[in-house]
Amino acid sequence: MKSLYHSQIERGFKALRFEPTLEKEYLEDVGCAGLSQLRLALMIGSLYQLSFPTMDYFFDGPGFSDPSIPMRTAITQPLIILMFAFTYMARFRSLLTYAGVAVGMSIGMTTLFMESAGGAFGNASDLTGYLLSTFYIYFYLGLRFWPAVATSVALYAMFITVGVVGPMPGNTLVFSGVMLTFANVIGTTGLYNLEYSKRLSFLEEGELRFMADQDALTKIANRGAFDKHFDRTWRHCQREQIPIALALVDIDHFKQYNDHYGHQAGDDCLINIAPIIETAAKRPLDLAARYGGEEFVVLLPGCNTGQAARIIEDVRKEVVKNMFEHVASPTSKMVTISAGVSSIVPPGDGPEELLRVADEALYKAKSEGRNRVGTSEESIGDTQLAQVIELSLQRDQNA
Ligand code: GH3
Ligand code: MG
Ligand code: MG
Repeated sequence: MKSLYHSQIERGFKALRFEPTLEKEYLEDVGCAGLSQLRLALMIGSLYQLSFPTMDYFFDGPGFSDPSIPMRTAITQPLIILMFAFTYMARFRSLLTYAGVAVGMSIGMTTLFMESAGGAFGNASDLTGYLLSTFYIYFYLGLRFWPAVATSVALYAMFITVGVVGPMPGNTLVFSGVMLTFANVIGTTGLYNLEYSKRLSFLEEGELRFMADQDALTKIANRGAFDKHFDRTWRHCQREQIPIALALVDIDHFKQYNDHYGHQAGDDCLINIAPIIETAAKRPLDLAARYGGEEFVVLLPGCNTGQAARIIEDVRKEVVKNMFEHVASPTSKMVTISAGVSSIVPPGDGPEELLRVADEALYKAKSEGRNRVGTSEESIGDTQLAQVIELSLQRDQNA
């Protein structure tokens, strides 16, 4: 089975957007990364914005040249402080993009209306501060491509509008417009490339993690992934005090299969059987894995022995239904599986006990003739189930 990461790499993501599940995972991932850099960026943004009223106050004649100057600072600074606070509060992190757009807009607009600060230095123009704001928004506010582009383009449009409507001389407007256009082109392409690489690394890392947990032959989860999941699920069931069921599933007379049809055919058989076994794992915490050789394991948290045995029994029937020929089998003309199921409410005697009981149940199923689902005597307490399994077995054999 292909991972979501792999499919997304194949499909591409030129618009810098993944399919919804991956997009959510990506946003959570980037949401937690780079928070300390963002805090530093916000502090610098705060100082940058404060430099305007400070310069205006000290260098452009006594006091503020315009009373709206400290007022604008009074709008921008709380926004920056709010965004800064959001970086420390996990439940507000999803609002960081909106906060970033608000901070970017406020810094840009403050810069736009701060003519007197630049004017105090004769040669300095509004454009200098505006260019700085543009790059700050693209590369510094931790914004993703689309919100950054939207913010910068809105500010760009405002600058041009103010230039056209206001007293800006025509040649200054053209010069500033050209500079700002290029600042936005540089910002857009630079941020696009940055975000594209970031997204590609996210997909590649995800794919590597996926491959490390995947069995190379059957493409279902491998033993390592099972061990990790078993540990986590065991603790979950212990906390919730719910049962956890485990099934060991083994192909019958597989040695004869290999001897008769050859090792390659044996591999193909494993490849065909694995997805059928995987159908047992339907709920999010269920897991089917290749345990080793021709043995598989299915973990079904929340199931008692009876429920788990019924699920595995469906898998057994499905294998029979597929009628993979096995003329060398002493018990059937088809490939069949046997399984041992056990269940426990943790802690019991620990996870090893669950495996041991399932193994005993598997041994029992093998010794009783194979092509059946066994449960341990201690945990069965369900003669009806044994009958159901026995009956269905007879039906399969008569078919
Ligand atoms: P039982 O019904 O008691 O399970 O008998 P069995 O022959 O299936 O069990 P046994 O443990 O004697 O043999 C298992 C065989 O599975 C031996 C080994 O060659 C084969 N096997 C294990 N892993 C692989 C694999 O990856 N590919 C192939 N083709 N065969 C494998
Ligand atoms: Mg076997
Ligand atoms: Mg075996």
